[in-house]
Amino acid sequence: MDSSSHVSVLSMAPQFGGGVGDSQAIFAGPANPVEIGTASGSPLGTIAKFVTPPPSASRGDTAVRRFMLQSAARELVPGERVAKCLRVPVGSGVDVFYAPAVRSAHYGGLQTCGSIWMCPVCAAKISERRRLELQAGLAVYDGVVALATFTVQHRLSDRLSTLVEGFLTSLRKLRMGSPWARIESRFGIVGMVRAVEITHGVNGWHPHAHILFFLPPDTDTLAISLLESALRRRWLAVLTRAGLSASWTVGVDLRAADGAIGDYVSKFGSDWTAAHELTKAIIKRGRGGDSRTIAQLLADFAVSGDRQAGELWREYALLFRGKKHLVWSRGLRVRLLPDVEEKSDEELANEHDEVAVLLATLTLRQWSVVVANDARAELLTVASSGDVAQLIDFLVSLGVEVGGVLTQD
Ligand SMILES: [Zn+2]
Repeated sequence: MDSSSHVSVLSMAPQFGGGVGDSQAIFAGPANPVEIGTASGSPLGTIAKFVTPPPSASRGDTAVRRFMLQSAARELVPGERVAKCLRVPVGSGVDVFYAPAVRSAHYGGLQTCGSIWMCPVCAAKISERRRLELQAGLAVYDGVVALATFTVQHRLSDRLSTLVEGFLTSLRKLRMGSPWARIESRFGIVGMVRAVEITHGVNGWHPHAHILFFLPPDTDTLAISLLESALRRRWLAVLTRAGLSASWTVGVDLRAADGAIGDYVSKFGSDWTAAHELTKAIIKRGRGGDSRTIAQLLADFAVSGDRQAGELWREYALLFRGKKHLVWSRGLRVRLLPDVEEKSDEELANEHDEVAVLLATLTLRQWSVVVANDARAELLTVASSGDVAQLIDFLVSLGVEVGGVLTQD
């Protein structure tokens, strides 16, 4: 039998009850601490003892949705890296890993794009890791943190590129020159973390930025409102120079808790903290109303065939490509998280902290069947049971030739 038609299964790590005694298996080199070998041990069935219940349906649905949106992105920007993300193999096989601690599965040996702006799969991962990092920074900071939201007036006729470039230029200018130096020293600003977000509504594109201000411990409500006024004056001044405008009241909104960061953070709800607000803008669904997030534009294209939404999303994606999403002001990150290495989006997208075992390695031919069936997400959902037999059944149901390699006996 042609070995390329086999799903090759690696032995489980010792704590998972031994390996697969099949000499035909092809063994790949896993990146994780998996013991590799053909050592015969307990049969595959032993694994079942260690298998935890599969994740809830909603988690699987989320993964399916993200992969579905990623396919839509591929259709809209076929020349971008997102078009190849978790689709095109880098070597001679595609690994399916199972991480028991989190009951999830992930791929190895595939290209990833690391695009926070275009890729729903990578963005979810990157933003979650950035959120945890920001949360850790907030946790160790012993001062007051305030969240500012900067907006700009916009009209339906505004070209996205003109509006966004003017907006981003204004955000840079905001923090330049002697006027800013005076604000910094007056309010003792320790540092900032900035995230840019954009939605589309009846009045067209609506870029806005969230900036977390790290302030001294003795910052009181009066200081917060004085800082808000100072920010408003400065923001209107820089916008005017860029040919843009904002209203006095809506242009800048600054809020903080009195002292305790925990109180402040909890204002945003149980799981929608300040860190969430800042890092999850890319993937969160809209808050209702007439305004759509970029994820919704993509979903409207993918699900409802809304071509106009697809065009808007393409325009956005090509403009934001290469721009930084979450930016810490100089020195703040090192000051708060001196031992945490700073990583690029690409590095975060490729990271797997959990200890994982290699469930299977698919040949390129087998993988091509999975891709042709648009079953990348479903495969992971099945693999998140940790049960090789279920994985095999699923592959067979897709029409993947698995040969007689995998047996429970
Ligand atoms: Zn990606």
